[in-house]
Amino acid sequence: MPDCIFCAIAGGDIPGRIVHETEHSLAFLDVNPLAPGHTLVVPKDHYARLDDVPDEITADLFRTVDELVPRVEEAVDADATNVGINNGPAAGQEVEHVHVHIVPRFDDDGGNPIHAVAG
Ligand code: IMP
Repeated sequence: MPDCIFCAIAGGDIPGRIVHETEHSLAFLDVNPLAPGHTLVVPKDHYARLDDVPDEITADLFRTVDELVPRVEEAVDADATNVGINNGPAAGQEVEHVHVHIVPRFDDDGGNPIHAVAG
């Protein structure tokens, strides 16, 4: 998709701090992290919203998230994570390419739910 920043990262046209890759999914660090290790997991192909994503790719995406959560936590010594999708502009989605946020959380970071953290 032209002008999609995550398509550009997936296509290698702009640099991303890529941490993991599968056949259908790509994980990279968020450029403006809510916490150290904030990771985004995206389908390599362009889909704007979750219900646009074919089932096989949804399965790959969430399997990848499931595998990465403990690895991200271990990498930054986190105590927990917020895992979520802003699915549509009214929900705060700014990049219209489906992405799952993995946000590390720490016992001493206040324990606010992610919407409070993100403002
Ligand atoms: P959204 O509000 O759920 O759409 O979140 C978009 C996320 O993408 C934000 O956390 C941004 O910091 C992140 N982001 C935007 N551009 C880039 C980029 O070029 N590389 C990595 N992350 C990005």
